[in-house]
Amino acid sequence: QAKQQGRNNAQRYHARQTEQTRHRVRMENALRHAIEQDALDVWYQPQVDLATSQLVGFEALCRWHDPKHGMVAPSEFIPLAEHNGLIVPLGALVLRKACAQICSWRAAGYRPPRVAVNVSGRQLRRLDFLSTVCAILDETGCRPEWIELEVTESDILKDAEPAIATLHGIREMGIALSLDDFGTGFSSLSYLKRLPINTLKIDRSFIDGLPDDGNDRAIVQAVLAMGRSLGIAVLAEGVETPAQVHALRLMGCGSAQGYHFGRPAVAADHTGVLPQA
Ligand code: C2E
Ligand code: MG
Ligand code: MG
Ligand code: MG
Repeated sequence: QAKQQGRNNAQRYHARQTEQTRHRVRMENALRHAIEQDALDVWYQPQVDLATSQLVGFEALCRWHDPKHGMVAPSEFIPLAEHNGLIVPLGALVLRKACAQICSWRAAGYRPPRVAVNVSGRQLRRLDFLSTVCAILDETGCRPEWIELEVTESDILKDAEPAIATLHGIREMGIALSLDDFGTGFSSLSYLKRLPINTLKIDRSFIDGLPDDGNDRAIVQAVLAMGRSLGIAVLAEGVETPAQVHALRLMGCGSAQGYHFGRPAVAADHTGVLPQA
């Protein structure tokens, strides 16, 4: 009886595993196809100066609408792409589309603020990363100072020395760098000192508890103090409420991004708020 039960459980477990594997393979193929067809979209989320409420940047975020599966969440397809290496062509696609968007805004007489593009550790570790970025800037006519690249501290720490060398190369090209999801990666202060970073992006998980949670407040204050003493700007991610804005202003945080200021949206939705030349 018990043995039969165990066998049934094992079979059900096996069937579920098989189904999950099939699903993953289907999604991988669909994603590969979408990249080949240049069919991924880039949405933009505003970043604002907390003191003046002025628009100071956008973050470019990849979106995938699959004809069969509908909108697929980045939390599903980004880890998949990280796993199978598709993140390399995906990242290049997003950078190319963001650079092209900046140029078409400028051609239409707008002066968009800097657009930040996420870069995965797998891209950063490729020997041809810098030349790929160069080629995309050349091909689109985008200037290095019009973009920023975002890397996560955990991605750098995995194999720090070559990654840090590439970060210096990026800065030498005249491209700004920010450290994404800051606070989640256990990076040591001695590393931080060696990273040629312009901006620390405090992870949303520490903004969540503001203004009431004493631990979150202490962490945010510590990051702000660190930023000040190292001469690195600090941006708060995932700001959703006026109370969070108020707390961050009082603590002297420079800039912020989050649903309170604007959700990620297609480029055309932002045209109305862009400064003109
Ligand atoms: P991230 O780089 O930390 O991007 C910020 C994420 O927070 C975005 O999620 C954004 O939509 C979300 N967000 C912004 N404001 C708020 C808020 O007020 N509340 C909440 N709850 N969420 C907010 P999204 O677009 O789903 O992307 C998730 C992650 O996927 C990104 O986190 C990034 O790590 C990755 N990702 C997205 N696009 C790309 C890409 O082109 N390349 C790479 N390598 N990663 C990407
Ligand atoms: Mg990011
Ligand atoms: Mg991230
Ligand atoms: Mg982040």
